[in-house]
Amino acid sequence: MKKIIVAIDGYAGTGKSTQAKSLAKYFGCVHVDSGAMYRAVTYFGQQQTTDGSIDIKLLIDSLPQISIDFELTKNGQQTFLNDENITDLIRQSKVNDKVSDVASIHEIRSFLVDIQKEMGSSKGVIMDGRDIGTIVFPEADYKFFLTASPKIRAQRRYEEQQKKGIIETLEEVLANITARDHQDSTRIVTPLKKAKDAIEIDVSYMSIDDVFNVMIENIVES
Ligand code: C5P
Repeated sequence: MKKIIVAIDGYAGTGKSTQAKSLAKYFGCVHVDSGAMYRAVTYFGQQQTTDGSIDIKLLIDSLPQISIDFELTKNGQQTFLNDENITDLIRQSKVNDKVSDVASIHEIRSFLVDIQKEMGSSKGVIMDGRDIGTIVFPEADYKFFLTASPKIRAQRRYEEQQKKGIIETLEEVLANITARDHQDSTRIVTPLKKAKDAIEIDVSYMSIDDVFNVMIENIVES
């Protein structure tokens, strides 16, 4: 295992998790998908009420009852919320539509950031998200920031959702990605932004392998 911390930030649908997963495998590190953690908290909040709306105060008060774990299985990395496997449940559009609201709340961010910092305390972690290079691991050994045109990102996310059997139109995916990017970049609490020392990669016209190779070259050569 390589004792490094790699932070991968960027917009929705740029393939951050795909790259983080491959880098983790390559270096024998742990992959932490921090977006899945915000999704898990959103899902938890939706389960607390009968109509699926989120009672923010109740959710904040309940944070100590939330435990999120990742487990690598033959079906890929699975996300558990209090021992329930929620891997697929957190990719539904009802979670997509609310996750950026939940992620804009200070108490929820600081709860998750503390857990994320702890996960990186013994190093050997590749973490992807929106604030990993700026807030969670400002001292990360390597930082990347992925961008791509919204249309290309929507097309890729649409194809992924289709493979998972999630029914959404391309227009709905594009609308959700654009809305989340706007909300994530303009929120008051730790908005999505590139860390000054992050390497920016525009993945619009690059294959998954090309992006991976650029990252590996940067890590190995420095
Ligand atoms: O990475 P993913 O698209 O699954 O993230 C879902 C949402 O979680 C983002 O749109 C953002 O609102 C929030 N998020 C965040 N900070 C992170 C990771 C995700 O605010 N580090």
